[in-house]
Amino acid sequence: MNLNDSEIIDAMMDRLNYIKVKNPEEAGLIIFNTCCVREGVDEKVYGRLGDYKRLKRKNPSLLIVVCGCLAQKDGSEMLRRAPHVDLILGPNQLGNLMDLLCSIKKGLKSPVHTEWDLSEQEIVPKRVSKVTAWVPISYGCDNFCSFCIVPYVRGRERSRPSDEILNEIKNLAFEGYKEITLLGQNVNTYGKGLKENIDFPGLLEKVNSIEGIERIRFTTSHPKDFRFDFIKKISKLPKVCEWFHLPLQAGDDEILKNMNRGYTVGDYRELIENIRKEIPHSTISTDLIVGFPGEREEQFENTLQVVSQIEYDQAFMFKYSIRSGTKAAEIKDQIEEEKKLQRLNRLIEVQNRISQKKNIEMEGKIVEILVEGKSKKNPNRFSGRTRGNKLVAFEGMRDFTGQLVSVNIEKGFTWGLVGKQI
Ligand code: SAH
Ligand code: SF4
Repeated sequence: MNLNDSEIIDAMMDRLNYIKVKNPEEAGLIIFNTCCVREGVDEKVYGRLGDYKRLKRKNPSLLIVVCGCLAQKDGSEMLRRAPHVDLILGPNQLGNLMDLLCSIKKGLKSPVHTEWDLSEQEIVPKRVSKVTAWVPISYGCDNFCSFCIVPYVRGRERSRPSDEILNEIKNLAFEGYKEITLLGQNVNTYGKGLKENIDFPGLLEKVNSIEGIERIRFTTSHPKDFRFDFIKKISKLPKVCEWFHLPLQAGDDEILKNMNRGYTVGDYRELIENIRKEIPHSTISTDLIVGFPGEREEQFENTLQVVSQIEYDQAFMFKYSIRSGTKAAEIKDQIEEEKKLQRLNRLIEVQNRISQKKNIEMEGKIVEILVEGKSKKNPNRFSGRTRGNKLVAFEGMRDFTGQLVSVNIEKGFTWGLVGKQI
């Protein structure tokens, strides 16, 4: 969601005739787009803001802007820690960025803008990729998982009307995009609160019929709202890729309950079984948190066990991070940092072995890759993804960026696959 916001900011700066420079030293305007899901990010942003104080001393006309969730969370507190910031605006104020910048330049406006503004301002993002594009289908979240700050900084869940989404995707198809990823904190509840009668599979069906689009992905699915009939409907849509990102968070029922996730390990396992039965060869990825307040050793081991049994293709693993204002932050029994780190490392070790094993199983297979461009690590190779969202670096015959090609997988690693185009 933040990457998508950054692409919108980029488009706005184009409209205002700003050009990009390589070094912050040369800039007349610096914009931070921030996240605040975990604590480490907050510190990084404040650290960097501190560094840029000297730039402002050298060039007093330099403007520094902070957008995104950290701006929303800290608001005027940010000004106390970094008084040299010129403009602070939350994600819901993004549509006002251009106007606010102009006012600030004239010295007309106060710097902090975190009030809710839900007026629509459609800006077409300036996308980094010419092949694959993000398309938000809903904003905000109503789930209030006890560890999570997103509902506080992104507000209540709102679905975008389907014609707006479909028009955006039709335009993308016209521009030659082959793949789109539908975005929302909980895509499965798409349609809630809209005047039209549409649900998530209904939206997917419409996207599936757009000519030119070859692959449809979506993230994130909330396990509690991924209904069995959704899986059945999705299995009939050929463009929807066989990749499901289903954050488990923890493999212990008591922890899940305290997290307010709304499912048990048993419910979750049943969901995975159904997906694997209805849509064979699906790849499944997840998010996991270790060291949630009160997590006992055996509860953490339950997570390890579930992870070993489910065998995820990929997992994003985090140490629990206290976010003030959330329910979990008030729990007395916080786990010490050292223990969280140890648990994280143990989990990563288990998952890395599984990721590697799953990727080795792909050796010798021929897969369809959407070529995204030259590989970042090795310019003699190209890179792209399988329908299952596995990253592949491969030797190509020539530059087929933006097209679907067949690649023979030669080697699987923890991070992904290496192969040769055939
Ligand atoms: N809406 C998505 C996730 C949004 S945040 C969902 O429900 O899955 C992305 C991930 O960050 C979460 O899945 C969770 O694993 C992690 N996360 C969120 N809050 C966190 C916290 N306080 N500490 C550590 N990880 C957190
Ligand atoms: Fe956060 Fe839970 Fe909403 Fe995901 S579903 S954004 S984890 S509150």
